[in-house]
Amino acid sequence: MNKFDYIQAKSVEDAVKRVSEGKNSIFVAGGTNLIDLFKYNLTHPELLVDLNKIHEHHEIIEKEDGGIEIGAFVTNADTAYNPIIEKRYPLLSKAILAGASAQIRNMATNGGNLLQRTRCYYFYDEHAPCNKRNPGSGCSAIEGYNRIHAILGGSESCIAVFPSDMCVALAALDATVNISGKDGARSLAFADFHRLPYDSPERDNNLQHGEIITSINLPKKGFPENFSYLKLRDRHSYAFALVSVATGLDLDGGIIAEARIALGGVAHKPWRLKEAEEFLKGKTADVDSFQSAAEIILDGAQGFKHNRFKIELAKKAIVRNCMMALNPESQRPGAKPSL
Ligand code: SF4
Repeated sequence: MNKFDYIQAKSVEDAVKRVSEGKNSIFVAGGTNLIDLFKYNLTHPELLVDLNKIHEHHEIIEKEDGGIEIGAFVTNADTAYNPIIEKRYPLLSKAILAGASAQIRNMATNGGNLLQRTRCYYFYDEHAPCNKRNPGSGCSAIEGYNRIHAILGGSESCIAVFPSDMCVALAALDATVNISGKDGARSLAFADFHRLPYDSPERDNNLQHGEIITSINLPKKGFPENFSYLKLRDRHSYAFALVSVATGLDLDGGIIAEARIALGGVAHKPWRLKEAEEFLKGKTADVDSFQSAAEIILDGAQGFKHNRFKIELAKKAIVRNCMMALNPESQRPGAKPSL
């Protein structure tokens, strides 16, 4: 039995103070991943600080600079169906709706989506060696069953993958994460928020203890004309991505003025390679260009016994998704890409 105290925070400052005071205190908002961690005996807090009664950061606001600010406590469902998001950032809406189930999206908050733990069967098995759960104990996945695991950015310590769909779109859209802590507020570029495992896989992101996500900013550019999100998984109804791709294109005639390509399901964080996006600038928007970009992105990918197929799958998914982004009609349910 894991006994803990529970309080409802009145404000962000109150929540930060309560969690900062205790080494083993944690926040809860939607709780959709945290409850799993409780069930699998993977977290043992002394104090749970509930954020659901805080009145701030429940809105999506258009900013004077043309961008938007998305409250951390807005649910994933309310974000996906928000008219501003649907109109100006449809890539984000589509990615959110590819994730989890309607019930989970109704509970899960945007801040919590960023903070979900990476996925690995062995992490959730308290009897298996796992460097992420028990640093220094070893990694069961590298020589074990590793079908869902990383092909990019892994280390000898860990090859778990970050499972969010929403975050793949946020990476492509150049989001910024706004954070409050006991020393004040700070912002992190989305690319710097999540971590690669290196030799400290126990840390999934760069938040410090007691820090809380308050909102997420998106810049003005949302690629509403040419975008696509593709999620490939074992079971269409409800499963994490084997590979997912978020694409936003800015086209000048048939020429690529700007490209964004982010991958999910392949690494410990959403994966984006600026080198490939630079390569695409000024190229004709066609299969050949996207195939070349896919080769650049997957250069250096490392497969393991059960997941080598993901390297080729990722290349094909990139090409297919970029072609889908050329044709807004392909975003309708059931539409086929024009390959
Ligand atoms: Fe643990 Fe990471 Fe290895 Fe999975 S891949 S067993 S999470 S160390």
